[in-house]
Amino acid sequence: MRVLLIGGGGREHALALGLAADPSVDHLIAAPGNPGIAEVAELRTVTPTDPDAVAALAVETNADLVVIGPEAPLVAGVADAVRAKGVAVFGPSAAAARLEGSKTYAKEIMAAAGVPTARAHTCTDPDAAARALDDFGAPYVVKDDGLAAGKGVVVTDDREAALRHAAECGRVVIEEYLSGPEVSLFVVTDGEAAVPLLPAQDFKRVGDGDTGPNTGGMGAYAPLPWAPPGLVDEVMAKVVHPTLAELRRAGNPFAGLLYVGLAITADGPRVIEFNARFGDPETQVVLALLETPLAGLLHAAATGTLAGHPPLRWRPGAGVTVVVASDGYPAAPRTGDVIAGADRPGIIHAGTRRADDGALLSAGGRVLCATATGADLAAARETAYALVDGVRLDGSHHRGDIALAAAEGRVTLPG
Ligand code: AMP
Repeated sequence: MRVLLIGGGGREHALALGLAADPSVDHLIAAPGNPGIAEVAELRTVTPTDPDAVAALAVETNADLVVIGPEAPLVAGVADAVRAKGVAVFGPSAAAARLEGSKTYAKEIMAAAGVPTARAHTCTDPDAAARALDDFGAPYVVKDDGLAAGKGVVVTDDREAALRHAAECGRVVIEEYLSGPEVSLFVVTDGEAAVPLLPAQDFKRVGDGDTGPNTGGMGAYAPLPWAPPGLVDEVMAKVVHPTLAELRRAGNPFAGLLYVGLAITADGPRVIEFNARFGDPETQVVLALLETPLAGLLHAAATGTLAGHPPLRWRPGAGVTVVVASDGYPAAPRTGDVIAGADRPGIIHAGTRRADDGALLSAGGRVLCATATGADLAAARETAYALVDGVRLDGSHHRGDIALAAAEGRVTLPG
């Protein structure tokens, strides 16, 4: 099978490693890719959000399967354009990707499907925003209604800051605060059949102890030793299948990766958000543990044959990834610094590029993801942090507590 992978971040490097390791893949092409992906794939240039350009590349490269990594191309209709050329594509239509592209649409679908989530109001003016904030009380949760690369959400006790964020965004969803540990559950689906991957947890705040501003994600681990038994079955029954059924009913069947972000509250799991693609950096750990060949699984979802796919097999143990971020991330990441020590298995490239002389340079806020598996979380942490220690990047920073509470049995469930 010839596979074309669209994107060039850490998630796509993790996808590339999984696809390249699948014996059914004889040629892997990535566009635009990155220097890490270049080790396992042929790189091509493309504007990932240009539907016609990606569709033309799929035809030109004779792809049997196109895998779309990031959300922006999905929302822009890239999957529709590829499908229109008769090429199998892993990734939902633009209409179905609105589940991620519009928080209001996601709330409408959840309400129609009876999915447990935070109560919410969509607001477009300061008075309505103020009323919504006072309705729910602190802590305040204010979300940009559109795509914001994981950075459009402000959670704060400061009413003025909440109002400011609402004014800056224009159209916002203001919702009830959900208290409890968070879970990311990835579900591979062809629109009807749905296969959950291992639940993972990511770390959104920039600083140790969940301090500082939200980021795209500073690290992740899987599986979750503290997860209640039956969690995945419950989420499949109460969230995933009702949501997929509602999307079919609405005429927007969702085929691809449904990312369910949950809080495990005293009243049970509640949806925080849906995404229409693999999460970054949780993908790095989930795919490191997946033994089932990845391309076959994604191809089954892309061709409506997932019901006939064999059950997934997982490697024993645990996975941990630690993001190495550039100086100034998330507010004002500095790029263009030389990186040393990145040339080792387990180092996933998230924001890198090659200089003309071949030197590896930082090219984004999240630069590398040090990823390791081990017999348990403690062992995986040790290896992941040893990888971090081997990286040299001026001014870089990382969290020191990724998976620490879980490894020490200190994650508690409310209620
Ligand atoms: P989102 O982009 O919707 O995932 O939000 C980013 C982060 O903000 C989430 O991972 C949570 O940590 C936090 N968050 C979002 N919505 C809520 C909520 N209703 N209650 C508590 N925390 C939230």
